[in-house]
Amino acid sequence: MTTRFADPPLTTRFAPSPTGLLHLGHAASALAGWHAARAAGGRFVLRLEDIDPQRCRPDHAQAILVDLAWLGLDWDGAVRVQSAHLAEYRAVLDVLRRRGLLYECFCSRADIAREAKAAASAPHCTPDEAPLYAGTCRGLAPGRRRQRIAAGEPYMLRLDMRAALDSLADADRQLQAQDAATGLHWRCRPERFGDVVLARRDVPASYHLCVTHDDWRQGVTLVVRGEDLRPATDVHRLLQALMGWTPPAWLHHHLLRDRHGRRLAKRDGARTLRAMRADGMTASEVRTLAGFA
Ligand code: GLU
Repeated sequence: MTTRFADPPLTTRFAPSPTGLLHLGHAASALAGWHAARAAGGRFVLRLEDIDPQRCRPDHAQAILVDLAWLGLDWDGAVRVQSAHLAEYRAVLDVLRRRGLLYECFCSRADIAREAKAAASAPHCTPDEAPLYAGTCRGLAPGRRRQRIAAGEPYMLRLDMRAALDSLADADRQLQAQDAATGLHWRCRPERFGDVVLARRDVPASYHLCVTHDDWRQGVTLVVRGEDLRPATDVHRLLQALMGWTPPAWLHHHLLRDRHGRRLAKRDGARTLRAMRADGMTASEVRTLAGFA
């Protein structure tokens, strides 16, 4: 683990998942982070969030680097590739497990959706519109839990949200995150996500765990990303408090939308930077389209 500088340089990052080619929305996000860093004489680091072996592809990872360089972006230090750091995520899980903040969850997706529906008195969805986990496996008797693990039943690791919040030192009880645009702090409410998954069945890590760990590990002081990820920041702030990682500030920018008002998304076939280049557009024209003249 690294030592943080007493007065770290402003450091931003771009952290795409190589599940497809970059589109204009990605370009806007990367440019926002890059400009913020360069304007302050700071650092801009790059990270490939590729822990999902089903969805991420090495050729997409390679294409992302080529497209960013074509766009005129440079980055500091080596690109961090998450799949090469699973041992670091495991070490964080060990710390949380020793504190009694994790538990094995054997529920399938279908179990979770069914139970969330059945819990009529509580909200059914997390802020990112996933079914809210009802906590079924939290109360499993230790003997039964051991039996199921020994029988080879697959499981994920969840954070016991209540226990995690209760374990915070008094100074951290009022969890707050700083909005870099206004300088104001907002009150974080990670409990709206319930017992979040910190390690998946197939990978000993999860988005929330890796993104928070790596922002700390890469010395990121300002997270620039889309407003769709704004709610998840509350969970990230909690993990930082639990692990004693210095929190960055956050700048959640508006998302670019198509002419029907829909946000650009790979799955909806948003036009890629690659296609724009093939059509003869210059990098300068693409930067202008992304809002950076
Ligand atoms: N890897 C995430 C994505 O491509 C971004 C994570 C983040 O910026 O925090 O959507």
